[in-house]
Amino acid sequence: MEFKTFFNHGFYTEYTSDPAAEEGRIESVYDEIEPFSKIIIKGEADPEDILRVHDETHVASVKDEGLYEIAAIAAGCTIEAAKTGINEPSFALVRPPGHHASSGSSWGFCYFNNVAVAIEHLKFQKLIETAFVLDFDMHYGDGTENILGGKSYVSILNPASSDRNSYMKEIKSVVSKVNADIIAISAGFDNHVNDWGGLLYTEDYYEIGQMVKANRKKGVFAALEGGYNHDVIGKNALALMQGLCTD
Ligand SMILES: [Zn+2]
Repeated sequence: MEFKTFFNHGFYTEYTSDPAAEEGRIESVYDEIEPFSKIIIKGEADPEDILRVHDETHVASVKDEGLYEIAAIAAGCTIEAAKTGINEPSFALVRPPGHHASSGSSWGFCYFNNVAVAIEHLKFQKLIETAFVLDFDMHYGDGTENILGGKSYVSILNPASSDRNSYMKEIKSVVSKVNADIIAISAGFDNHVNDWGGLLYTEDYYEIGQMVKANRKKGVFAALEGGYNHDVIGKNALALMQGLCTD
């Protein structure tokens, strides 16, 4: 099954000197998934979508850094992926990533919390009542927890197991009980064996996709977070999406 990917050519810009913005990174994912995906170009999130999640001081500081446009486009593409995700698995191929962005601050190569902006958009538009976030990036999604963790309609899993089998079991045991209208995957691939975390294999991302597919009640979308080895990040993203699209 062909899945839809939401993207903008502005992501090719090396907007900072951090590893998420590195030359060739977004291209490596694009090239891997493009044969299997319908690429849909989208633009900036509306300011009110960003301000539903972030305070004005933070938005102003992102503007001062000259990063508002690219961060708003990443949020906008994630909103569109989330809307499509209600009906079919979809992917937001975006940068900067978002899960370290809180309402009033951000770090770790993140500026706006793309997944939180997208979920809050769906909720505000009454397209969902409940949401679940699976964040399998190797780093804890503190920003997402800070923004959404206190909201009764959202539950979040950041798997914490440090060995591969336990990690996969942890995801399976939680995902099998999820009954949310939308499952948002904060898809960071920096826990791959050939990336920083050294824990998961490419087939594990496929299996995670299958687990979510098998247990989801309604929608699912994934948004790119971390992942810094250009040789494998695209293969891992494709594996996840193909797992989500298995029959
Ligand atoms: Zn990470």
